[in-house]
Amino acid sequence: MHRNGDDLKGDATKRILVTGGAGFLGSHLCERLLGEGHDVLCVDNFYTGSKENVANLMGNPRFELLRHDVTFPLYVEVDEIYNLACPASPIHYQFDPVQTTKTSVHGAINMLGLAKRIKAKILQASTSEVYGDPKVHPQTEDYWGHVNPIGIRGCYDEGKRCAETLFFDYYRQHKLRIKVARIFNTYGPRMHSNDGRVVSNFVVQALKGEPITVYGTGSQTRSFCYVDDLIDALTRLMETGDDFTGPVNLGSARAFTILELARKIIALTGSRSSIVNEPLPSDDPIQRQPDLTLARKALDWAPTTALDEGLKRTIAYFEGKVATGGRA
Ligand code: NAD
Ligand code: UDP
Ligand code: UDP
Repeated sequence: MHRNGDDLKGDATKRILVTGGAGFLGSHLCERLLGEGHDVLCVDNFYTGSKENVANLMGNPRFELLRHDVTFPLYVEVDEIYNLACPASPIHYQFDPVQTTKTSVHGAINMLGLAKRIKAKILQASTSEVYGDPKVHPQTEDYWGHVNPIGIRGCYDEGKRCAETLFFDYYRQHKLRIKVARIFNTYGPRMHSNDGRVVSNFVVQALKGEPITVYGTGSQTRSFCYVDDLIDALTRLMETGDDFTGPVNLGSARAFTILELARKIIALTGSRSSIVNEPLPSDDPIQRQPDLTLARKALDWAPTTALDEGLKRTIAYFEGKVATGGRA
């Protein structure tokens, strides 16, 4: 194992790199890891993340923030790597699709090269999008997916699929210790208010009294996992034995239609917003729901936060943002 200053001090503290650490999930992960007493190096180019997301961590001497783009090589010394860098919402990843693929693919190569050199354990934030518009319900990890390689979601979906391929080739070829998490829709405080994702869109629209924009008929389904549950799963996955690589589905198994979600958010905010229907974006999956059997077995994990409870906390966060007109 690579030695560093803290190893020499003989404590159990690990040095952990979180790429994309200033984003929605990354900032919660940094917070959790610091809370467990580890040293955290947060690497981010602030493409969709922000310093504001980690402002509350800045005073902690165990926290370091580095502005860096993972498509370029990175030479640091750490024990574990969580690779989260990648724009995640359709609006953001479709804004510069070539950069999205580069971030997933070149970013994975660089972080795997780094992990190989320093013998670090490395976890990839993959996605349910590797299943595309799935023909198998609920999705199990052995399903190979149904992805349109030339559609507008391809830059994200295929980039993430290629990253998974790279992880498994570094595992087979270079004996790296890898963990691959397939994350399903996750929501909570610090989502961007303008990233177009359904929970943030609906909450902000409801709080502003603007119409709730349901795409298509709203009969498409998604399952929503609260961020704290997801972060718990990611840290559990990192702690699994070296023989466990995943991929493992992480998310909530309770599916809701988008129309149900709209009604729930209107009720919870007490909003007078109406519901309007807008065209369904192309390649928008009709159903998505994880089979969590493997996560339960390998991680002894299942999400515990009910949608109503998680939405209340998310609404409280956005109330602050909407009130100050601030950026989320
Ligand atoms: P996010 O956009 O809030 O966070 C992504 C972070 O990566 C941002 O801080 C961004 O600035 C940074 N980033 C982007 N390109 C970079 C680059 N080239 N170099 C360095 N940093 C870069 O999104 P999120 O929801 O927190 O997602 C985090 C990860 O989890 C992503 O990899 C995403 O694909 C994955 N994921 C998220 C969800 C979800 O529902 N939130 C679902 C599936 C997968
Ligand atoms: N790399 C990095 N940090 C390191 C080691 C490697 O960013 O500490 C990058 C480097 O740019 C390289 C990539 O990781 O291109 C893949 O490294 P690997 O050793 O697997 O392949 P090679 O260097 O032979 O191309
Ligand atoms: N959606 C919607 N109205 C919005 C934003 C999204 O009806 O204002 C729908 C979208 O078409 C999709 C679902 O909500 O069917 C989830 O969208 P999101 O972008 O959050 O995630 P993803 O499509 O990647 O699951």
